[in-house]
Parts: sequence; C-alpha cells; structure tokens
Amino acid sequence: MTNSELLNVKHVSKKFEHAEKSGIRPVLTDINLAVKPGQFISIIGPSGVGKSTLLRMMAGISRPSTGTIDFAGRQIVKPSQRISMVFQNFALFPWLTVQKNIAFGLENSRKHNQGQIQQKVRDLINLIGLKGLEAAYPYELSGGMKQRVGFARALAVDPELLLLDEPFSALDVLTGEQLSSDLMTLWRQGDLNMKALVMITHNISEAVRLSNVIYVMNGSPGTLVRVYRLKTPVEQRTASQIMRKTLEITQYFKQMNRR
Ligand code: ADP
Ligand code: MG
Repeated sequence: MTNSELLNVKHVSKKFEHAEKSGIRPVLTDINLAVKPGQFISIIGPSGVGKSTLLRMMAGISRPSTGTIDFAGRQIVKPSQRISMVFQNFALFPWLTVQKNIAFGLENSRKHNQGQIQQKVRDLINLIGLKGLEAAYPYELSGGMKQRVGFARALAVDPELLLLDEPFSALDVLTGEQLSSDLMTLWRQGDLNMKALVMITHNISEAVRLSNVIYVMNGSPGTLVRVYRLKTPVEQRTASQIMRKTLEITQYFKQMNRR
C-alpha cells in the first residue's frame, strides 16, 4: 500500500455462522479496494451481496474473517470517531431530541465540555438545515429531516471518513436529491475534516452523479466484479454525460444478471 491511501481493504473475506443450520456461510470473498483522500466512492450491487457487511467492517463494528482493513496506515480493530456512519433507516434515538441526537457521539467521547458540545451542535444545526427543530423528537420529523439529523450526528465527531449505507433510499426522490446535493456542497466546500466518503447505493444514477469511483459487487459470496473510474470532476458533469454513464452501468448489470 502507499501512504496516500486513507482506507485499504486487503483480501477481506467474511463468513457468518448459520443461525439455524450448523455450518458457516461465506458472505464476502477476497475484497480489495483502496480509498484515497478526496475521493467519493460508491459501491453498488444486488441486495444480499454483502455491501452492508463490508461497510460495517470499514466502520470497525464487525471484523473480517480473513484479510485486513487499514485506516490511515493502521489496522481497524474497533469503532473510532475518525470514521462515522449514516444509516438507511436513520437509526435515531426516539427518546432524544434533535439536539441530543446530534450531541450523542460528542457526549460519549468526553473530549469536549458542555459549552463546546452546545456550540458544535448549534453550528451543525445551521449547516445541515435543521434550525428551529432543536427541541423536536424524531417522530415529529419528516424522513428528510430525520436523515438530516442522521448526517449531523455522524458529522458531529469530525470524522475523516464518512460511510453511507443507502442514505437516501428511504426518502422520496426529490428529498433524496436535495439532501445529496446539500451533502455534495458541504463536501466540496471543504470546511469539514472529512477526507473521503464511501457510499452504498441501489441507485446507479445517484452513484454516477456523486462519485469518483464506482465499485460493482456481485455473486454469492460477494466479490467486486468491476470498477468504474469517473474522470470528469463531479461539478463539471453534464446531465447527458450522467445519463450515458448510468445507461452503460445499467446495461452491465443486466448482462451480469443474465449470466
Ligand atoms: P446487502 O447490504 O448487500 O444487501 P448484507 O451485507 O446486509 O447485504 O448481507 C449479506 C448476507 O449476509 C445476507 O445473506 C445476510 O443475511 C447475511 N448476514 C448479514 N449479517 C449477518 C449476521 N450478523 N449473521 C448472519 N448472517 C448475516
Ligand atoms: Mg445493505
């Protein structure tokens, strides 16, 4: 590996013990991928192929059965504040207000005093577009607003790597596109500590719109079967370029599933 890589997944395989039947089921096999600073990486693939499993290992929530995942040159062995995650179903704490949900990771870290936490949460509430909702509970929010809280909570700890597991797929199309474009604005402004993003998505055109590199997964156990490197900078991509690339990848998917 080179020092320029932020995240390095090397020969990673994952097996789960069968709950009902005795035996071991391989879910992922020999996954290799690298994430460099400045990159937005997407991973696409059919349901059940092991995408979430892979992302959880990158977050340190789960461990590879074989192989290693390095972050900034050191093996990931447990969750860290340097890497945070946004979930498809928001995963908010229903008993906490918006403000408390966002502050959660900071309160746990004990690195900040109450004043610093309050300030940080206020800044994020403004940045992510949640003003006026500080005291609201998750059940009072629309899906889009819930996911804004999900993003704010993930960003509160100033992560260097943000992992996104289908973050827009529980939202209606317009809300999802608004939130993804707001995320891109934040990312490109470069005010955050965030060095790279890895996103899982079902939505090929979303991957084409947002990413620098797209990995395609397939098979059982899941493997990476194809890489698309998108050369045109995100902000310079035209609607027709995006459409063409989306079509190309969609065609590849169709072929892949016919085999
Ligand atoms: P994807 O996100 O691509 O839809 P997942 O990573 O969620 O796929 O799951 C891949 C496979 O691994 C599925 O068959 C799922 O049932 C299995 N799996 C995921 N987590 C566990 C677990 N903790 N124990 C046993 N099997 C699991
Ligand atoms: Mg999944």
